[in-house]
Amino acid sequence: MQVTMIGAGYVGLVSGACFADFGHDVVCVDLDQGKIDRLHAGIMPIYEPGLAELVTGNARAGRLTFTTDLKAGIANADAIFIAVGTPSRRGDGHADLSYVHAAAKEIAAAVSRYTVIVTKSTVPVGTGDDVERLIHETNPDADIAVVSNPEFLREGAAIADFKRPDRIVIGTEDARARAVMTELYRPLFLNHSPLLFTSRRTAELIKYAANAFLAMKITFINEIADLCEAVGANVQDVARGIGLDNRIGSKFLHAGPGYGGSCFPKDTLALVKTAQDFGSPVRIIETVAAVNDQRKRAMAKKVIAACDGDVRGKTIAILGLTFKPNTDDMRDSPSIAIIQALQDAGATIRAYDPEGVEQAKLMLKDVHYAANPYDCCTGAHAAVLVTEWDAFRALDLARVHGLMASPAIVDLRNVYRPDEVRARGFTYDSVGR
Ligand code: NAD
Repeated sequence: MQVTMIGAGYVGLVSGACFADFGHDVVCVDLDQGKIDRLHAGIMPIYEPGLAELVTGNARAGRLTFTTDLKAGIANADAIFIAVGTPSRRGDGHADLSYVHAAAKEIAAAVSRYTVIVTKSTVPVGTGDDVERLIHETNPDADIAVVSNPEFLREGAAIADFKRPDRIVIGTEDARARAVMTELYRPLFLNHSPLLFTSRRTAELIKYAANAFLAMKITFINEIADLCEAVGANVQDVARGIGLDNRIGSKFLHAGPGYGGSCFPKDTLALVKTAQDFGSPVRIIETVAAVNDQRKRAMAKKVIAACDGDVRGKTIAILGLTFKPNTDDMRDSPSIAIIQALQDAGATIRAYDPEGVEQAKLMLKDVHYAANPYDCCTGAHAAVLVTEWDAFRALDLARVHGLMASPAIVDLRNVYRPDEVRARGFTYDSVGR
């Protein structure tokens, strides 16, 4: 089938490359000329394990092409996916749909035969109706169906998630569109990935409900971690004790510095706004968002406490900047709020991240970027483990001890065992233990 992916970011590029790998002919369209030029040169615009091989292999086979020319990109498309960004709108937290609407208008001007338009971007309930209306306003004769097909892939494991999803959600009541979507996903269907057909509005809501639930689970264990600290319990044992219950499940029960990333923060806020607009507030998610917001700055207080209550004039080593390992994505990473709070308190920041530094430089000021974890810890009064990259799991602690101005570790991901670190002469604090 002929597939066009509008937006060649984390979702569009991964989805496009995976569809091409299934044997479809895919054109990725992006308005960022630099991104398209890099893709033509075989250079990935993002860091995602396995992506370079997948993209270059399918491009070489002629199944995956890149362009900035939307009109040419959609000329023969059976399905056009909208995979553009939907960030938080400044000021009110609603999803900013300007990129989606712009893409819809451009599609309207260019479609010439029956085409399925698929919103893969995370969009609030009713956006499919807007896209359909916009297309028909611009091109009343357009023969189209607008389908919701939210994406659930996780950065860092995006290719495996796309190719072996827990489920594929398809929101449409149009029989022709259903047939096109079934054909597109046939390779996964044969792999027994469940295809869930729903109404368009239901599909749109499923994505927000899923992300809000996961954000709630993380926030729950984070608050339990605080309680563990207060009562002298161990949150990892509590998580195991509850996670072994099949009704609860063990995933997303790792206490830490609060959720971040390109999805949970904006999607929880957007769900809250949608629910308020429809007069059906989701108070539990309002609380989740507020608790998570406070948590990031609270982590900075933990670091200050580890430095005897004062970081003025002291150097703090930040190990890990991205919101999770195996991505270069810095959007809404907890490291940003933590670093800014420590700088506000007078600290000098040294930081190291295996992949996130280029993005971090666009978001953070006055940070010295180190060449490796040891360089990062040199002269530091405390080392803060913010992102659980594998590179930080087996540090040579004796070497770290020798490099630091004072040997204090604040482990916000509970990577190390307290007794082992303390036995090596460090003061050590972690989360909920
Ligand atoms: P991104 O910012 O990485 O990529 C979006 C791309 O769209 C950019 O390259 C931008 O240049 C391009 N673009 C914008 N307007 C365009 C237009 N009119 N024509 C062509 N290209 C255009 O975003 P992302 O992280 O891939 O997210 C995309 C959507 O998928 C969002 O709604 C997001 O919530 C959702 N989503 C993201 C993830 C994730 O892990 N990143 C997971 C699931 C769902």
